[in-house]
Amino acid sequence: MSETTLSASRRKRIKRIKIYLITIFVILLITPTVISVYTMNRMSDLNDCVDDLTRQIDQMELSYLLKETAHESLEEMTKEIDENQMAADTQTMQIETKAYESEAECPEGYKKVYLTFDDGPSPYTTEILDILDSYGVKATFFVTGIQKDKHPEWYKEIVDRGHSIGMHSYTHVYKQVYANEEAFLKDVEDIHELIKETTGVNATLYRFPGGSSNSVSTVSMGDLFAKIHDQGYEYFDWNISSQDASNPTPSKATITYNVLSGIDKFDNCVVLMHDAADKYATVQALPGIIEGIMKKEKTVILPIGPNTETVWHLTGDEEED
Ligand code: ZN
Repeated sequence: MSETTLSASRRKRIKRIKIYLITIFVILLITPTVISVYTMNRMSDLNDCVDDLTRQIDQMELSYLLKETAHESLEEMTKEIDENQMAADTQTMQIETKAYESEAECPEGYKKVYLTFDDGPSPYTTEILDILDSYGVKATFFVTGIQKDKHPEWYKEIVDRGHSIGMHSYTHVYKQVYANEEAFLKDVEDIHELIKETTGVNATLYRFPGGSSNSVSTVSMGDLFAKIHDQGYEYFDWNISSQDASNPTPSKATITYNVLSGIDKFDNCVVLMHDAADKYATVQALPGIIEGIMKKEKTVILPIGPNTETVWHLTGDEEED
């Protein structure tokens, strides 16, 4: 092989190597650029996608909010309609005159219902009075001395709003009240004084703690009936119990049923309920009870007064048997 041929073949190899190197260089330079451009494009696509989704979520949130607002306005409208309906119903009932302030105003031959609340006043007294007022109904409250220091104004509110107030017990501690005749008379005198001081009323209505048929008294109940009558007072038991003092406290529906079903059995109905801090179901049941009574034929609601026919569990005569 001549020198010329050898250098020509070397040049060729060098040229080939140069081409290889240039190719590799170009590949190395272009590939990342292509990858970068591709990645950037994908990212831009993904960004668009995210933007779309965000817009959709925003729209969904907006439509949810709109729905919520619409729902709230609908609820408000329904409430308003209900309130108007209730006001209209109340008005209709008052036009029919289903409640009177005394027997003298009551038409002949009507069934009489006396709603009585024992153990008050309580934190619920005002709410009970508001409900009674909204139906134009007068009731009877047999009060205790429990709130005498903290809320003497509650006693007065009962009287100021036109209801009957009666004596129940100063202490309402059965063992103490019925320990002996002196203790009983002292308790009656104390609650009489408290009512006089707080309301100015000379109370004559009385309800025995536990009723005249209570099983707690160690003193002859017949003697106590006589003592009550000696002072010119009158005692009232009940012939319909709402059973709201049962343990556990019955539901609003049960209390309402107990009262309304009881009323069907008597012409002169004295209903026992309680005005007490642990008996909110009674407050909740009260509108339904009043409406139920008002829907009954020839039936009126009255407060107990001096001319009310008494309802007694015991008269004292039974004790002689
Ligand atoms: Zn009581």
